This record gives sequence, structure tokens and C-alpha cells, in this order.
Amino acid sequence: MTPPNILYSTALLTAGLCCFIVGLLVLQRRPFTPGSVPLMVFILAMCWWDVSYGIFWGGVIKPSPYFWLDISYIGVVIVPATFFVFAMQISGQQEWLKKPFLIGLYVEPLLVLLLMWTDPLHNLFFAGKRLENTGMILNAGPVFWGNVVYSYLLLFVTFILLVRRFMATSGIYRRQLGVVIAGAGVTWLNSFIFIAGLSPFPNADNTPFSFTLAAFAFAYALLRYRMLDVVPVARDTLIEGMSDGVLVLDANNRIVDMNPEAGKLLSTSPAGAIGRQVEEVFSHWVDIDQGSVKTSKTRAEVLIEKEMNTYLDLQISPLFDKRRNFIGRLVVWHDISNLKKIQADLEKLATQDSLTHAYNRRHFYTLAEVEIQRSLRSQLPFSVILVDIDHFKDVNDKYGHKAGDQALVHFTKVCIQNLRQVDIFARFGGEEFVIVLPETAMDQAKVTAERIRKIVESAALNIDDQQLKITASFGVSTFKSEEDTLEHLLQKADKALYAAKNKGRNRVVCAE
Ligand code: GH3
Ligand code: MG
Ligand code: MG
Repeated sequence: MTPPNILYSTALLTAGLCCFIVGLLVLQRRPFTPGSVPLMVFILAMCWWDVSYGIFWGGVIKPSPYFWLDISYIGVVIVPATFFVFAMQISGQQEWLKKPFLIGLYVEPLLVLLLMWTDPLHNLFFAGKRLENTGMILNAGPVFWGNVVYSYLLLFVTFILLVRRFMATSGIYRRQLGVVIAGAGVTWLNSFIFIAGLSPFPNADNTPFSFTLAAFAFAYALLRYRMLDVVPVARDTLIEGMSDGVLVLDANNRIVDMNPEAGKLLSTSPAGAIGRQVEEVFSHWVDIDQGSVKTSKTRAEVLIEKEMNTYLDLQISPLFDKRRNFIGRLVVWHDISNLKKIQADLEKLATQDSLTHAYNRRHFYTLAEVEIQRSLRSQLPFSVILVDIDHFKDVNDKYGHKAGDQALVHFTKVCIQNLRQVDIFARFGGEEFVIVLPETAMDQAKVTAERIRKIVESAALNIDDQQLKITASFGVSTFKSEEDTLEHLLQKADKALYAAKNKGRNRVVCAE
């Protein structure tokens, strides 16, 4: 096949036009991310190659017979080096792109171009075979072959580095690299078809088409996977192995990255969640304010699972690029369920008695103070009953200390069951207890004390087939004036209790 060939020329010009459009798409996508600039150079080179080669095959405009073919070589020589730069940037292997190396990469193309264009002076490029290479340069001199070997070697090394990186990454980066590798694969496939002689157009060069397709794949990889907004710094070592859940959202609240730990709590794999809106994935978390996920900076404790009591310490921070453009959010959480449980246990320990689970003496004072304030405000009296179990020493002696403990638990249960929800029952110490009856005057408090006394007396506890019966003595006092204090109130009740003991126990005595 020799020029002109309108069909082949049109195909090339169309490919060039498509390149131009894709190049514009990459250009208008701001901010530029790693890979953007080399990709635009790559696409521009492809556009140049397609169009100038297309004009050459059109055969209409030609300043000299080989003018457009020689011009098209600018695109040809730029492509391998630029592919290398693009691939290293997009896969986060910038360590390859040191300045001297980068300059070196583009010296070779420049040199080859110069030697090609000055071939009549030295014959190093075409080696006198210019006429044989009418449609495309297939066989020529040492500079030509040197460039072919160099270019394919560079493409091969790039390919290997990409595949190696692909194996080591995961998540959305892996998918992105997959697309880049597939694009590069198209060029290899084309070369293979050509060398194997399987090409449908034996005399036409399909290389520009395969590289154009590759350029489209690269642009797709860059534009489709928006997580390039977030540079993959040390991602694998840091994020994958973390015991904290990490989630990265883009500016449109789509999940662009997450680690396996995050997947566990969202009951989804990273592969299943990436690309989805954050609300969809968070929907089964109970106590999360859906709006708060979208705010800029939050730190909150959230209950996400009622049955399991799963609590998270959740932190949301905005992410910005170098130019301070908002590009998304970082959501990090730490499971604090254990901490919460310990906190609750500690609270119990601080307010409850460990044997009977009634309030302890200290907490009684706190609650009683609150009751005094309420009473002063409402001008309603409240009463206090001090209770002491009778001859408890004998219970211990007769049934053993363990049975004594059981009796204390039993006594507590009986009392609480027969009090109102608002009443406060606390263990004051040993076998002595205190009851606070809010909004209750003396006469009503006495009735309550008497009722409980009777129930305690009649409610026997079975221990080892033996009936353990206990009785208790009660001292009642009432708080009603501003001059009164809690200490005085308790003194009065204690005095009354002492009187009850003296009068023979198992009875209720009210303070004067
Ligand atoms: P009374 O109050 O009727 O005058 O006689 P009492 O025998 O109950 O009085 P005392 O204060 O002399 O004895 C109280 C006993 O309560 C002594 C102590 O061993 C027992 N006790 C206190 N705390 C506990 C406890 O947690 N478990 C058991 N099993 N016994 C306890
Ligand atoms: Mg006692
Ligand atoms: Mg006692």
C-alpha cells in the first residue's frame, strides 16, 4: 500500500480529532493530579502523530514527498518516554523521575529526530533505504534500529513496573492501574499481531491506532477514578494494616477509598463500597446523624449497634490539595466499645454497693442533697428512714457469714420491691440502710416504714432447707425547714432508730 489512501488517511485524521477532544477533557479537569501533565503531552503527541501521518496518507498537501512522514516522527519519538513519566506518576513511583533522568529520557528522542532529518548528510538513519520505506519506515539504518530497540525496552520496563505496582496495591488504585495496564496491553497486542503477520492490512501501520486507544484508556483511568485527588502516599503500609477504620470521600461524598478495618464495620468489602454514596453505606448505623457525615470537621462518639453496644470515636476532617482546593473528607474511627463498658462499670462501682447493688453511702449523700434542694424549692417535706437489721451478729453466727450476705441481698430486694420508683434506697454501712422518701411527710413515712417492717418480718429466706427470718428496726425523721441540714436529719433518724432498738427492736420510731 502506498499513499495516497483516503480511507486510511480519514481513519488517522479521525483518531487525531478524538485525541484532541480527549486532551481537552483532561485539560479542563482541575486541579491537575499526578499523571495529568504527562498524559496531556502523550495525547498531544498522539494527536500530532495521527494527524501528520493522516495528511501524509492523504497525499494532497506535500511540500516534499516525505515531509509529513518526517514531521509525524516528532509524535513517534515522544510517546515512549512520556508513557514512562505518566505511568510512574500515576502509580506513585515518582522516585524514578529525578531531574537528570527525566532530561535524559527526552535527549534520545531529540537526537533521533535530528539524525533522521539530517540523514542525507550521514545516512545513519535510513542507510540508503529511503525509497523502500515509502509508506512507513520498516527497515533502515543503525539509528532507526537503535531507537526501535530503545523504545520497546522502555515500554517493556514501564509495563513491568506498572504490573509490579498493580500486584502490591489494592482498592481503587488497583483498578486504576488495571485500566492503564490494559491500555498498554493493547499496544503490545498490536505489535504481536504485526510481527506474527496477522494484521488485516499487511502494508498499513496500526501502531498509531493502538497507541491512540492506549491514550484513551489512560485518560479514562485518570478521569474515572477520582481518588487521584488524594495522592497515594504510603497508603499500603499505613492504611491497610491499621486497626482504625479509614474511609476517604471525594468532594461529592462518594467513597473513593477505605481499608479492610472500615469494611468490617460497614459490613461490606472495600470493593463493594468504593464508588458508592456515603449515605448508602452508613445507613444501618443507628446513632449517626446522616448530616454530620457531610460536615467539614467533626469529632463525636457514636453508638452504631445497639445490641452489641458498639461505640465509635469518629473523626471527620476535610482534605485539601496543594492549592487549598477542597477535594474531599477523611473519616477515621476507633472502636471504643471496651472503653465505654469500662466507663459504665466504673460509674456503677462509684455509685453502687458491690454486694447488694443498692446505692452506696457516698451516692446517697449526693442524691439526698438534690432532694433537699428540691424540697426547698417545692416547699414540700421529705422523709428519711434509717433501718438496722436486728441481731445480725447472731445471724452470722448461726448461719455463717455467707448466709448473712444472702440475707442482706434478700433484705435489699424486699425493700426496693416495696418502695416507689422515686424513693431512694441505699446501704449506709454494714447491716444498716437508709431510705429517702421524696414529697413525703412524717405520718406517711411512718406508714411506709411500718409496711416494710411487716414484710421483712414475714418474708423468710430459705438457706440450705432452713428458714432464715430477720427483723429490722426503723428510725424516721422529716425534713421541712430551711434551717435544717442533712446531717441533723440523719442524727434525728439515728436517735429514733436507737430508741426503737431500746424499746425491744422490730419496730418503727419517729423523731420528735
Ligand atoms: P443490733 O443491731 O440489733 O443491735 O444487733 P447487731 O448484731 O445487728 O449489731 P452489731 O452492730 O453488733 O452487728 C452488726 C453485724 O453485722 C456485725 C457484722 O459482722 C455484720 N455485718 C456487717 N456487714 C456485713 C456483711 O456485709 N456481711 C455479713 N454477713 N455480715 C455483716
Ligand atoms: Mg444490727
Ligand atoms: Mg448496726
